[in-house]
Formats: sequence, structure tokens, C-alpha cells
Amino acid sequence: MTALVIAEHDHASIKPATLNTVTAALACGGDVHILVAGANAAEAAKAAAQIAGVSKVIAADSASLAENLAENVAAQVLAIAGNYSHILFPSTANGKNVAPRVAAKLDVAQISDITKVDSPDTFERPIYAGNAIATVQSTDATKVITVRTTGFDAAAATGGSATVETAEGVADSGKSAFVGREVTKSDRPELTAAKIIVSGGRALGSAEKFTEVMTPLADKLNAGLGASRAAVDAGYAPNDWQVGQTGKIVAPQLYIAAGISGAIQHLAGMKDSKVIVAINKDEEAPIFSVADYGLVADLFTAVPELVTTL
Ligand SMILES: Cc1cc2nc3c(=O)[nH]c(=O)nc-3n(C[C@H](O)[C@H](O)[C@H](O)COP(=O)(O)OP(=O)(O)OC[C@H]3O[C@@H](n4cnc5c(N)ncnc54)[C@H](O)[C@@H]3O)c2cc1C
Repeated sequence: MTALVIAEHDHASIKPATLNTVTAALACGGDVHILVAGANAAEAAKAAAQIAGVSKVIAADSASLAENLAENVAAQVLAIAGNYSHILFPSTANGKNVAPRVAAKLDVAQISDITKVDSPDTFERPIYAGNAIATVQSTDATKVITVRTTGFDAAAATGGSATVETAEGVADSGKSAFVGREVTKSDRPELTAAKIIVSGGRALGSAEKFTEVMTPLADKLNAGLGASRAAVDAGYAPNDWQVGQTGKIVAPQLYIAAGISGAIQHLAGMKDSKVIVAINKDEEAPIFSVADYGLVADLFTAVPELVTTL
């Protein structure tokens, strides 16, 4: 029994979501291999070989894999899928784009968003926005799985010594073409990898106020900035800051929610945070039911005071 983890990488380094996925793969009970499908990605393959618990890295290098097009990555996975009992993807935008293609071609049911491995064929996954946990058993020969990264600790990025084997890169599928990419440049930690997140809600009232009030706190704490959907929909914060059921799922060491009511769809994205601090002027706000520390206060005075105190 061998599990294959599909690495999330930028061709030079391995992204943190891969490490949590390796932990899930190790819990499946057998050997763990990693596929690094990229272009000129030798450095990423080298980094993957250092991950504790991984016995082999398969480095597939091809120009067709330079832009992470899902059709090509899926073909690369399928080229070696026959050797594996489990194929695991991090439940990221990339992973969720490739996994269903692989599952469909293998004619197996995808097992999505697992948070626990009970046994090699039985897994747990949250349903109804995290309000219930389903235990799912699969009798398929190959288990194609996406892993909710907040459900598993990260494997150590160093300390391993896997062998690196090269696989022939697939040809371009011709089904899609890379047109361009607009990347937001930010010095802040990426939301899903941030140790501290400071999130603002509808109460902020405008994009200007959001920046004026929330940014100094995030700067002080070297935190990632998040937002509720209401704040995003109102244009106070960019779309990729949204935390929740239809946004990002996060579990930082510290999550500070200011002016967020705590709707279940928001809680679904952050309730696994280690310490939750809520600032809300309504003492009945549902966010207080998950908060470790709650401050009933006006955020427009409490947040600047917090920044000064810090
Ligand atoms: C299918 C679906 C998916 C969804 N997905 C998401 C998701 O991914 N993420 C998400 O966040 N939401 C999501 N939602 C929306 C969700 O239901 C809520 O509408 C949203 O989270 C509310 O955002 P909010 O807490 O900022 O706003 P509100 O619910 O309006 O809360 C604002 C809060 O600010 C407090 N407040 C007001 N003024 C101040 C002040 N001066 N100081 C302190 N506190 C103050 C109020 O007491 C209130 O509690 C989804 C909804 C649906 C139906």
C-alpha cells in the first residue's frame, strides 16, 4: 500500500499545504511518495525529498507543467496512478481543480475534504458547514482524496531523505492554454499559512475604515488580513481575504474577529483556530460562543486601543 501526495509548489519551493497532506497520507498506513509536477522544478523536488516520512519523490519536469494547468497535471498524475492505493491532494484551489479529473478518469468516487483518517479505507469529513462530521468508507481500489489541511498537523519540512526519481513529463493536452496571471503582491503572510489572522466584518462600514482600523493591528502582529463575506461583498476587502464556508478555511494560532457576527458560514472557516478573540458591541453575537476571549466594545475604539497597548 503506497500513497501519492500531489505537491503544491512554485517550482522552487514546496508550499505548506503539502506538509499537512503528507501527514494525512502517512495516516493511511503505507509508504508515502510525492509527485512534483512542474517545469525546471528540481529545487522543489529537492525540498520535497527533505520532508519527514516521505520515501520517494517523483519529479516530472515538462514545459507543459509550467503553469499548473489542471488538464496537464491530471494527465501527469494519471500516468503513474496505477502504482498507488491512495492519491492525496491538498484541498486548495489547485488540488480541487485536479482531483476530480483524476477521480473521474479512474472511475472512482472522490473523497473530499477529509479531516481524519480512521483506517486506510475510512475517513472523516465535515458536512453542513462543519456542523456534522460524516464518516465515509470507500471500497474503490484507488482512493482519490482531498485533504482539509487544517485537520492535520504539518509534517516536518526537513529531516527526511527520500530518493528522487524522474518521470517523463506529459505532453500538453491542448485543451487549455495559459493566458496570463495577475498576482497580488503582499508582504503579509498568506491567509491559509498565517499564524495570526485579524479579520474585519460589515461593521467596518467602508474600505477606507477597514484599512484605517484593521491594517495597523495586522502590522503590529505581523498577521494575515481576513474578512467576512459581508465585508467582501460590500467591497471593504478583497475577495481572496474571505474566511468561511465559501472563502478560505483557516486555523491559525490566533484569530481576531472585529465586527463579525459569527454566522455559521463564517465559523465554518475559522472555528478550528487555536485561540479566538472576538470584538463586538453586541454581547449576544454568536461569535462569542466560539471565542476564547470576548470583548463587548465598539471596535472603532477597542482596536486602536489594542494597537497602542501592543
Ligand atoms: C451559502 C452561503 C455561504 C456563505 N459563506 C460565507 C463565508 O464564507 N464567509 C462569511 O463570512 N460569510 C459567509 N456567508 C454569509 C454569512 O451568512 C453572514 O451573512 C456574514 O458572515 C455576515 O458578515 P458579518 O459578520 O461581517 O456581518 P453582520 O452579520 O452584519 O455582523 C456585523 C457585526 O458587527 C457588529 N458591530 C456593528 N458595529 C460594531 C462596532 N462599531 N463595533 C463592534 N461591533 C460592531 C454587530 O453587532 C454584528 O454582530 C455565507 C452565506 C451563505 C448563505
